[in-house]
Amino acid sequence: MARPEPIYLDYNATAPIRPEAVEAVARALQIGANPSSVHAAGRKARALVEAARETVARFVGASAQSLVFTSGGTEANALAIQSAVAAGFKPLIVSAVEHEAVVETAKACGGFDPLPVDKHGVADLGWLEQRLKAVEASRPFVALMLANNETGVIQPVAEAAAMVRAANGWLHVDAVQAAGKIDIDFNALGADSLALSAHKLGGPQGVGALAWGERAVMSRVQHGGGQERGRRAGTENLSGIAGFAAAVEKSVDRSAIEAQAAWRDAAAARLAEAGASIAGEGAPRLPNTLCLAVADWPSELQVIALDLAGVMVSAGAACSSGKVKPSRVLEAMSYGAAAAGALRASGGWATTEADWIRFADVWLEARQRHAARQSAA
Ligand code: PLP
Repeated sequence: MARPEPIYLDYNATAPIRPEAVEAVARALQIGANPSSVHAAGRKARALVEAARETVARFVGASAQSLVFTSGGTEANALAIQSAVAAGFKPLIVSAVEHEAVVETAKACGGFDPLPVDKHGVADLGWLEQRLKAVEASRPFVALMLANNETGVIQPVAEAAAMVRAANGWLHVDAVQAAGKIDIDFNALGADSLALSAHKLGGPQGVGALAWGERAVMSRVQHGGGQERGRRAGTENLSGIAGFAAAVEKSVDRSAIEAQAAWRDAAAARLAEAGASIAGEGAPRLPNTLCLAVADWPSELQVIALDLAGVMVSAGAACSSGKVKPSRVLEAMSYGAAAAGALRASGGWATTEADWIRFADVWLEARQRHAARQSAA
């Protein structure tokens, strides 16, 4: 029997690039000019960058005047944090489930107070309210992501924003995972800055954006030429920006991503019956993300077993210097030993119901084989 085609359920790591984005990248590469050049080809490149800026800003309800393109979500987050620190915002309060891009930058900027989450992975706003009261004399900076990359849990950003605003602080929202999966309205969220990344919604890797509002005080972090109105030096990634805008245009229609929820939940029910915990199940979640945890089967062994069967997913854990660490996010959610047995499956624009069924079939078979090996040992 022919081996089935491999399936890709790792959209939260990188979504496969959309054909429309590939075409836009190719067209932009053919312009072959610098957007800062005054000649005709340069003006064509400039027009493309500015049209893309309008598209991306409109997508999140932000102003194109206050949106810069960056090298990705990491740089967008860093630009917000470093600007806030330079403008004297302190202390830094960072949710316990933020991406490393936020956590490590906040650490490098002198450290932060971790904002705890409950067992569903939702930020503890009671704690935040108390902490903001305790720092009344200063202007705090709070980082709360819109949706978590491992669990898909959606945070109560608008409620947090009201508190941060009352405390005269700055709320930064990492919307890298939420973009294209749920609606984003910069003003309704009450964000002061918001980070995006193209490769999570079917655009190319290496391009992202930071949008900000009137209360944010942006600094110049990267020095050099006067690109991005002097806010972020360096020749624009023309083809990346074009691909980003094309992916955004396709992401406006969320029907394919919203269809994932029912298929994801059907798969989750089968895994839960076999003893897996479904992280964040009790909270609002992105429609495409499934994070499971088991105490007796390490993440990396799960990933390898699934990969051998042609199913590509990721460990809900960070891998550094060859060692897989337990998921920081699940640890923050009090998962204990099961944090070392986390697995994330995430679908997207090209994922079908059959993909989710096969993922569950393969996981259940592999789990049985693992259990049999364990009992034989
Ligand atoms: N923030 C979140 C929530 C992410 O999931 C990621 C990527 O995994 C990033 C930031 C970093 O984005 P980039 O890979 O574009 O630097």
